[in-house]
Amino acid sequence: MYYALCFLVFFVAYALTIVTTSVGYHRGLTHGAVTLHPRLRRFLMDYGMWLIGIDAAAWICMHRLHHQHSDTKDDPHSPLNVGFLGMFGAQLAGYDRSLAGLKAGAEPYATIGHDVHLSWPNRSGLWGLPYLLHAAIAVAVGVQWGWLMGVALFAGMMSHAVQGACINALGHAVGGRNFDLPDNSRNNTFAAWAVLGEGYQNNHHRYPASARFSYRPSEVDMGWGVCRLGEFLGLLRIERSTLMPKLVAVEAAAAAAAAAPAQ
Ligand SMILES: [Zn+2]
Ligand SMILES: [Zn+2]
Repeated sequence: MYYALCFLVFFVAYALTIVTTSVGYHRGLTHGAVTLHPRLRRFLMDYGMWLIGIDAAAWICMHRLHHQHSDTKDDPHSPLNVGFLGMFGAQLAGYDRSLAGLKAGAEPYATIGHDVHLSWPNRSGLWGLPYLLHAAIAVAVGVQWGWLMGVALFAGMMSHAVQGACINALGHAVGGRNFDLPDNSRNNTFAAWAVLGEGYQNNHHRYPASARFSYRPSEVDMGWGVCRLGEFLGLLRIERSTLMPKLVAVEAAAAAAAAAPAQ
């Protein structure tokens, strides 16, 4: 029973981390595929760092650079450049460059981060504070309910690097493609199931402003389900004009019209 409880704690913390990153930072703040409630947007920008250890603004800038330079030498974290094992180091280096660039107001970060701002710990050079807080909470939980429970909580809340590496490495190296793109993006089913639909990188790179990452009926994007739930709860609004099925249909109609003989 105790082990099951520890797993439950890890699972809830892991899910909270990826929902914050995938729906909040990624689909919401980075791409505008969903419009977050203003209070939720402000909370994530100012306190997301305290929640999951990753600053929203720095993450957003790194990710926008990834889209601008996918799988070229300027991509902050392409497996074509750093391999699978180098992914953790590349992610950390790219994130650190974003933090420093935003703090200094340097390009390209000032331009691509025009709509975001660093949270207080990073503006003040106290980036380690949220991690210390999480460690202290984990120790308190461990003292009260056993060390495994504390470790489970800490591992789940700090799982962003593992989730990111899973998406970035597998989603740009292993899997099929629905769309022929100049980058090496793939649809990786394992990464999609493990990280809330984020493994459908090929679909996402083709339609980055779509809140839904799945394209084929066999593809399951649980993050899309979270978006629907968030909309139902009034936490966000899904931008329907940029949804993937709608855009695909619009483009197909335009192509058909262009191919039709002139009257
Ligand atoms: Zn990608
Ligand atoms: Zn993206």
